[in-house]
Amino acid sequence: MSGAEEAGGGGPAAGPAGAVPAGVGVGVGAGPGAAAGQAAAAAAALGEAAGPGLPDEAGLAGARQLQLQEAAGDPDAPPKKRLRAAEAAEAAAAAAAAGSGKLEERLYSVLCCTVCLDLPKASVYQCTNGHLMCAGCFIHLLADARLKEEQATCPNCRCEISKSLCCRNLAVEKAVSELPSECGFCLRQFPRSLLERHQKEECQDRVTQCKYKRIGCPWHGPFHELTVHEAACAHPTKTGNELMEILDEMDQSHRKEMQLYNSIFSLLSFEKIGYTEVQFRPYRTDDFITRLYYETPRFTVLNQTWVLKARVNDSERNPNLSCKRTLSFQLLLKSKVTAPLECSFLLLKGPYDDVRISPVIYHFVFTNESNETDYVPLPIIDSVECNKLLAAKNINLRLFLFQIQK
Ligand SMILES: [Zn+2]
Ligand SMILES: [Zn+2]
Ligand SMILES: [Zn+2]
Ligand SMILES: [Zn+2]
Repeated sequence: MSGAEEAGGGGPAAGPAGAVPAGVGVGVGAGPGAAAGQAAAAAAALGEAAGPGLPDEAGLAGARQLQLQEAAGDPDAPPKKRLRAAEAAEAAAAAAAAGSGKLEERLYSVLCCTVCLDLPKASVYQCTNGHLMCAGCFIHLLADARLKEEQATCPNCRCEISKSLCCRNLAVEKAVSELPSECGFCLRQFPRSLLERHQKEECQDRVTQCKYKRIGCPWHGPFHELTVHEAACAHPTKTGNELMEILDEMDQSHRKEMQLYNSIFSLLSFEKIGYTEVQFRPYRTDDFITRLYYETPRFTVLNQTWVLKARVNDSERNPNLSCKRTLSFQLLLKSKVTAPLECSFLLLKGPYDDVRISPVIYHFVFTNESNETDYVPLPIIDSVECNKLLAAKNINLRLFLFQIQK
């Protein structure tokens, strides 16, 4: 069976439409009902500024009165039960009157990508009926369709989508950038568009380094403690010999880094290079304990079909009990080869996500008998960054494959 034919097979991460199981959509309204859900949410959001003429307080109060009468007025119900039913109806009516959550929470479900249900970080595209897709999901729908040799369709309304049929929605992109987002250091809320500058230049809690870092001071801490540390820092009073030792060590780690970049540069001059955007999608297995795994849809690079899989904390029994988070991944060759295929591969940040990865080059010789690599670390810089990836629904990265020809 060829890779392309197999690609539609109902694996855990079939096309994006299949990757949004009914359960995921319940809260926010993906799936066929999404249009109605979005319209309702939009109406609710508009209701914030509703004047007379829209479903107003009086109408709502009337409905509430009726509910209370109905609940309390059942003559056959015992008195206590009647009272409780009345209370419940009142609570429900109050919740309905207050709307579900704050304006920004309601807007979140209006502006999120209808495929991954996350707030788009970069460009937003829409189908001819107006369904929103983040750039990552949009590109993936097109790529999946190409693999299956089908016309790509909107997962919500099944209308045809393509680069020429879909346009960007700048209003949504701008609205998303106005929604509040939390500063990772001081936890205060800022519009998304201002957050980057705040975290880089203004936040008093942002992580900074000592100005004597150049002569080996490892201190880093919140900006507001920096002056106190620098005044007391021991590094400027070290002797020449002590500093020489420190500088030697720093040179060594710098050399290692240079070696890595040089090997990436030499790989870039190989004859056969392929790269593609890969989207890891979560799924759970149900054997004994449910575990979180990730898998990409099949993709084609260097004329072969591949899949990437990833797992959390190397499938440790209870990853939720440890505060250290890691991700590891493996690369699987899905098509048959006529000769061993020796490759170097490398995962880097893709164009639609801001993941912080330190590059590591891996090697493997793929044959028909041995067509999957071991699980190797996905070199994310730290546990915080790893949790950020796990919190987002999908992980978007870019895979580079370099074929080594003898
Ligand atoms: Zn998306
Ligand atoms: Zn649509
Ligand atoms: Zn801050
Ligand atoms: Zn220092």
